[in-house]
Amino acid sequence: MSVPKIVTRFAPSPTGLLHLGHAHAALFAWHAAQAAGGRFLLRIEDIDIGRCRPEYETALMEDLFWLGLSWPEPVRRQSAHLADYRAALDELNGQGLLYPCFCTRRDIADEIARSGAAPHLTPMGPDGPVYPGICRNLNADERARRIAAGEAYALRLEVAKASALAGPLHWHDRARGMIAATPEIFGDVVLARKDIATSYHLSVTVDDALQGVTLVTRGEDLFAATHLHRLLQALLALPTPQYHHHRLIADEAGRRLAKRDDARSLRSLKEAGHSAGEVRSIAGYPDQGDGESPA
Ligand code: GLU
Repeated sequence: MSVPKIVTRFAPSPTGLLHLGHAHAALFAWHAAQAAGGRFLLRIEDIDIGRCRPEYETALMEDLFWLGLSWPEPVRRQSAHLADYRAALDELNGQGLLYPCFCTRRDIADEIARSGAAPHLTPMGPDGPVYPGICRNLNADERARRIAAGEAYALRLEVAKASALAGPLHWHDRARGMIAATPEIFGDVVLARKDIATSYHLSVTVDDALQGVTLVTRGEDLFAATHLHRLLQALLALPTPQYHHHRLIADEAGRRLAKRDDARSLRSLKEAGHSAGEVRSIAGYPDQGDGESPA
């Protein structure tokens, strides 16, 4: 039996310039593939149409190339694959696991306030307050009426029902070992947003499967997301990759770097005269001279 090669990916959103944290994430994925004679992919996560810019996509490719990375073409751009996410939603809908949610942020905040829960008792999920379920029990007539009236709606996953259907789930994290999935922490998460008929969670899970990614490497900040992605894999009968959630690069004050920290962008480091090798080293990957480092 042939052992499948490792396939990793770096999946940035073109919403700003790449910084050292991205360099660390990209090099982490690149090295994980290289160490196993595998493949490294680049994927552009551009479903957030309001925030993504083509010039940032061009810039991030230039920066990664300058760092010494390369990837097979064509690069997958999520915005070009909405039909794949639609098919996954249809599958989940067919299983009776989705419902339309007409709520605004304001409706949700008001409902949480009305329910009388003290703010510190409001259940928080990894993406924010857990949805209080306002639209979960609307009857079919009311749903149809509101949709026909043109009210915007998102699609939420009925997570308790979905978890019960999927049964106990696990995934293997290279840093932490076997993890039992607890997707309920998200509550009824949005899988298709009002403005674009998909979401980060759905797109990333579908794409990793369609692209044959066998090892998902990403920052610790996305560790919790894997609980939900594991559930989606089970519901959609997709393979489960291995995971490796890595450390985040912080600034001198211990704060996580953000795209707005232009001073630490790869571009400004380059303009300040740093070589690609120096930047790789600052990002945690000093060249070894063993042929494993990017050129
Ligand atoms: N697009 C996500 C980001 O820029 C990363 C997604 C992932 O690695 O799962 O943070």
